[in-house]
Amino acid sequence: MDVATLTIEKVQELLRGRAVTARELAEQHLARIEARNRELGAFLSLCPERALAQAEGIDRKISAGELLPPLAGVPVAIKDVIVTRGVPTTAGSRILENYRPPYDATAVARLEQAGAVILGKTNCDEFAMGSSTENSGYFPCRNPADLERVPGGSSGGSAAAVADGLAVAALGSDTGGSIRQPAGFCGIVGLMGTYGRVSRYGLIAFASSLDHIGPLTRTVRDAAVMLGVIAGRDPNDSTSADVPVPDYAAALERPVRGLKLGVPKEYFGAGLDAEVRAQVEKGIARLGELGCEVREVSLPHTDFAIACYYIIATAEASSNLARYDGVRYALRAPEAETLEAMYHRTRGRGFGAEVKRRIMLGTYALSAGYYEAYYLKAQKVRALLYRDFVEAFQQVDAIVTPTSPTPAFKLGEKTDDPLEMYLADIYTVTGDLAGVPGLSVPCGKTKAGLPVGLQLFTRHFDEARLLQLAHAFEEAGGFAL
Ligand code: GLN
Repeated sequence: MDVATLTIEKVQELLRGRAVTARELAEQHLARIEARNRELGAFLSLCPERALAQAEGIDRKISAGELLPPLAGVPVAIKDVIVTRGVPTTAGSRILENYRPPYDATAVARLEQAGAVILGKTNCDEFAMGSSTENSGYFPCRNPADLERVPGGSSGGSAAAVADGLAVAALGSDTGGSIRQPAGFCGIVGLMGTYGRVSRYGLIAFASSLDHIGPLTRTVRDAAVMLGVIAGRDPNDSTSADVPVPDYAAALERPVRGLKLGVPKEYFGAGLDAEVRAQVEKGIARLGELGCEVREVSLPHTDFAIACYYIIATAEASSNLARYDGVRYALRAPEAETLEAMYHRTRGRGFGAEVKRRIMLGTYALSAGYYEAYYLKAQKVRALLYRDFVEAFQQVDAIVTPTSPTPAFKLGEKTDDPLEMYLADIYTVTGDLAGVPGLSVPCGKTKAGLPVGLQLFTRHFDEARLLQLAHAFEEAGGFAL
């Protein structure tokens, strides 16, 4: 058995056929992590006791001939911005070093109720702020397709883990592209549901109006199964939507013939790498061959998205991160004579450079005299971006774009220029700002063997259509283009 190519479906088949036990599967994954993680840097911590206890519970169910839940025995990894009871949760930050939360995030609890085996916590940019996982407060993560290159970010550890066979599926978070961009860079599937589709309870807040939890998987079917488990109203998150969750896996096989696809011209302009463009254009042609009606559309405010995102995201971050004051959580700088000195030292020592930069930017954007010029203006632009999508969706059923303007870049290539790094999110932030669901599916490789991602967006709460299109694309060999 090759653990690196397992899917949720395959795991279920093997367990039901008694070809392997859940405990063996967990042990094999833990051993592979042990062997590979030094090189990859995908995991920050492991929780083998919790994993093995859960796996043994599943094995007992199998022996007793009980009906198995949808994720029974599936080894999963959790991005370290998502809290896990008793298991270190650092958000990739030194300020939360050794923090062990007293509760589980709703998404984590739902995964375990569905039988998933949680292996550990994955590396990420500090507080999910970044596009390469180089802003991790611990160590960078590398791309399994080329160890000289980044896996993307901020959910880089989750993407690398799934791509390299260290977990069958993972949870990530997406505020401006952090699920879809690393999925694209690592050659796997990344899904962000509609804002409110998945509870954020237990997601360490970065920018609350933009934050999402979602799955990273090897196949579209696996993404559908994972979303089905974690989606749905949660009384612990007032922004989680009370919208029925359809059977996503059942929607996959519906024919895509006749569906209307919009290609926004603004996503194919300057800055788009020629090889990425060629792959994505081939991908769009493939969707056309499947019977989709492809036409050009316009999302006219796209040019303002990066500026708008980096005002709103930093403003919300500056407010959310005020809680790390050395009093309530993990790190507290010792030997301070006054309360103020303690705040200074704790935050000065605990936060990395990018997080500090964003707290300063966000505080500025929210301060008296600047609020109207920056924050309020950005909110107005956000409304225009939202309207762009709503209007486009009056003409088409889905929008198709590249996930990122370039394939995975080299470690260190963009670390000296934050603006360059921010531009890696140019095609993904729009979806978060508009609140629509988005997905990245593999769309071939560059000549150097680097994965390319194709991104799809659909209407609010229309994840079933998103998955249906991505599944048809995958079945038609999108991965191999
Ligand atoms: N790369 C973007 C940022 O740095 C998005 C991060 C995210 O989605 N968490 O803010």
